[in-house]
Amino acid sequence: MHRLIFILLPIVFFGCSHAPETGRSQFIWMSSSQEIKLGQEAFAQVLQKEKIVTSGKKYEMVQRVGEKVALAADRLYPEAVRGYKWKFALIQDNDMVNAWALPGGKCAVYTGLLPVAKNEDGLAIVMAHEVAHVIARHGAERASHSMIGAAGVAGMAMTDMDKRDKLIVLSAYGLGVALPFSRTQESEADQLGLYIAAEAGFDPREAIPLWRRMGKENKGAPLEFMSTHPSSTTRIQQLREWMPEAMLRYDTAIAHESALQKINTLK
Ligand SMILES: [Zn+2]
Repeated sequence: MHRLIFILLPIVFFGCSHAPETGRSQFIWMSSSQEIKLGQEAFAQVLQKEKIVTSGKKYEMVQRVGEKVALAADRLYPEAVRGYKWKFALIQDNDMVNAWALPGGKCAVYTGLLPVAKNEDGLAIVMAHEVAHVIARHGAERASHSMIGAAGVAGMAMTDMDKRDKLIVLSAYGLGVALPFSRTQESEADQLGLYIAAEAGFDPREAIPLWRRMGKENKGAPLEFMSTHPSSTTRIQQLREWMPEAMLRYDTAIAHESALQKINTLK
C-alpha cells in the first residue's frame, strides 16, 4: 500500500497538464524542475563530446535567430519557459541535417542543417519547431507514458528509476535512440513553432518550402525529421490552415520592428 501511494503521488501532482495553444490534455509524470535539470546535464555532456563552433558568420546567424526565437517564446508562453536560460550551440557536423532543444532552453543546431534551412526564416522555422517540442513538454509526456509501460513490465523497480528516467527523457528529446515524438506532438510542434517564428519576425510562409526541403533529406536524425512527422501533404495542409493566424502575428511583429527602427533613427 505504501509503495502504491509512493507511485501514485507524483501522478497527482504532475499528472494533469495542458499543452499551450492547443489546450490538449497531457499526462506528465515529472516536474518541470526535474526536466530542466536533466536538460542542463545532457547539454553539458553533448558540448564536451562534439565539436562546437564559437565564431564566424554561421555561428552569428544561429545566435541571432535563436535569440529572436527565444524572446518570442518568452513573450508567447511565459509560464512554459519559467526557469529557462536559453543557449544555442552550433555543432560542426555537415552530415547531420538536424537540430534539437532540451528542457531549460538548451538548443543545438548542426552545421548540416544550414544549407537545407537555406535562410534565416527557414532556420527559425526549424528552431522554433524544436523549441515548441520543449515548451509543450513532449519529451516528458513521451517519457511518462514509457515509464508507465516500463513500470508495468518491470514491476516498478524504484531503485533503478533515476537512471532509467534519465535515459528515457533524453531519448524522448531526440538525444539517443527510440521514443520518437507522436504525430499529434509533431503537429503541435509545427503549430506552436509557426506562431513562435512569426512572433519573432520570421516569415511563416517559408515553413511550406522548408518542410518540403526537409522531407527530401535523408541524413541526420530520422526519428525526429522523417518517420513520425505527418506525411508531407497533411503537414502542408495543416500549415495552410494555421497560416492566417501566423501571418497576423508576423505582420504585427514586422510593424513593431519598423516602428522601433523609426524611433531609433529619430534619436
Ligand atoms: Zn518534431
